[in-house]
Amino acid sequence: MSNDYDVIVIGAGPAGYVAAIRCAQLGLQTAVVDDFVFKDGEPALGGTCLNVGCIPSKALLDSSEQYHKVTEHLAAHGITARGVELDVEQMIARKDKVVKELTAGVRQLFKVNKIEWIHGHGRLVGARDIEVTSADGEPERYRAGSVVLAPGSRSIELSAAPLDGDRIINSDAALDMTAVPPRLGIIGAGVIGLEMGSVWSRIGSEVVLLEAQDELLGPVDRQLVRTAQKAFKEQGLDIRLGCRVTGTEVGQAVSIRYEDKKGAHQLVVDTLIVAVGRRPNTDDLCSGEVDLLLDERGFINVDEHCRTNLPDVYAVGDVVRGPMLAHKGQEEGVMVAERIAGKAGHVNYETIPWVIYTDPEIAWVGRTEAQLKAAGVPYNVGTFPFAATGRARAMDHSTGLVKLLAHAETDRLLGAHIVGPQASELIAEAVVTMEFAGSAEDLARTIHAHPTLSEAVREAALAVSKRALHKAN
Ligand code: FAD
Ligand code: AMP
Repeated sequence: MSNDYDVIVIGAGPAGYVAAIRCAQLGLQTAVVDDFVFKDGEPALGGTCLNVGCIPSKALLDSSEQYHKVTEHLAAHGITARGVELDVEQMIARKDKVVKELTAGVRQLFKVNKIEWIHGHGRLVGARDIEVTSADGEPERYRAGSVVLAPGSRSIELSAAPLDGDRIINSDAALDMTAVPPRLGIIGAGVIGLEMGSVWSRIGSEVVLLEAQDELLGPVDRQLVRTAQKAFKEQGLDIRLGCRVTGTEVGQAVSIRYEDKKGAHQLVVDTLIVAVGRRPNTDDLCSGEVDLLLDERGFINVDEHCRTNLPDVYAVGDVVRGPMLAHKGQEEGVMVAERIAGKAGHVNYETIPWVIYTDPEIAWVGRTEAQLKAAGVPYNVGTFPFAATGRARAMDHSTGLVKLLAHAETDRLLGAHIVGPQASELIAEAVVTMEFAGSAEDLARTIHAHPTLSEAVREAALAVSKRALHKAN
């Protein structure tokens, strides 16, 4: 077999494996180099997202939500459940099964698309030359017409809280805890910290989150954050803002020293998760002869079409600027594949949705009010509370609201912000509207089934022009 390919992709996460599939669809001979090994020792495709990110975290969020529903919410429905028990090992085993099925699915997609999977660590050693070091340590060389770098990212470590793999862990290990820690500390109340905190608090941990910033979820619309913050407090999540962790000691428990405006404090927990963000995997991606341009934080420099400074070398996903989100990487993968094949691939960075899978869920797309104000863009706001929709009431899930921002003169939809049930799904309607350069009026005139949560989106669109039907304007 020849070691020459039209395209070689490094990294089989959502950015890399999707790039490879699109390349193969376009008739390009494609290989993917990936070094990931699942905890059972088996090499696995799918990268962070499928193995230790999006999918396992959502599987655990779902299990913990089921438990929480049975223990806390069924009584109101007239259902009595006695002797409810949680088998954490089974919860983790189910999560692993979901992950395995999905990563096997990517393997199958590679087979049907005739994509070669080369397991090992890849390095760019020449303009279009890749060296792959496999488990047995023997390096092998490959040559590509074009190279797509998609090595993703890994958790940032904190010198004040070094991981010991047991009491102080990162998000990878937090997805594999087989017992509920009575006291759980989390450094970082970002997306990952809040999702992990939700899982373990629902199944019995007392959770304290220590966040460096003075405001929770800085870039998110303040009205959404206030609503979510109130709900988190009611759920027992103890979020402490403006905290700087200065040190940790590990013994039978973890003792954390931190400072805030009021002074120095100590917190003792059984397990501590460090969730302070992620950094790009670019440390060992190129040999010394290859002059790939990185920024000061180690991200690969790219233009709007994900071209690096090297000819025929592209970079996509978490390793380049922009949000660290799986669907952003996937879209970049498609764009790059199409451009390699001579087509006009393009990513609309203005319409990337964000989701935080807490309860309530938080989702948004486009501009916030703060951004519009800063840019001097005139806008109208329409809001609608889920409490005023029949479906949310019937579901007993009526916390939250939909907030739409439309241009004051053109009515074009500029941003959508949702906190509440199924926000992750509801945001898609706003994304489609924005992709079609639609207006609040377009959404307002669209018939929505009754009773559905999506009626809140339509009502918020009506509220932009002060004609919501089920609330006072
Ligand atoms: P990755 O998924 O990180 O994949 C990179 C792959 O390349 C890995 O398999 C890695 O082992 C391999 N690799 C790296 N370097 C080399 C090399 N030199 N040679 C060979 N192989 C290499 N995003 C969402 O959109 N929604 C979510 O709900 C969500 N939840 C998350 C929850 C958690 C706990 C975490 C940690 C992340 C979550 N994310 C979520 C973020 C998401 O996982 C990432 O944005 C996404 O995985 C990035 O995709 P990628 O293809 O760029 O890289
Ligand atoms: P995310 O980028 O969404 O995963 O969130 C990471 C969170 O960790 C952000 O809210 C950061 O402000 C927070 N963070 C980063 N460094 C620290 C630190 N040293 N102590 C506490 N929080 C931190």
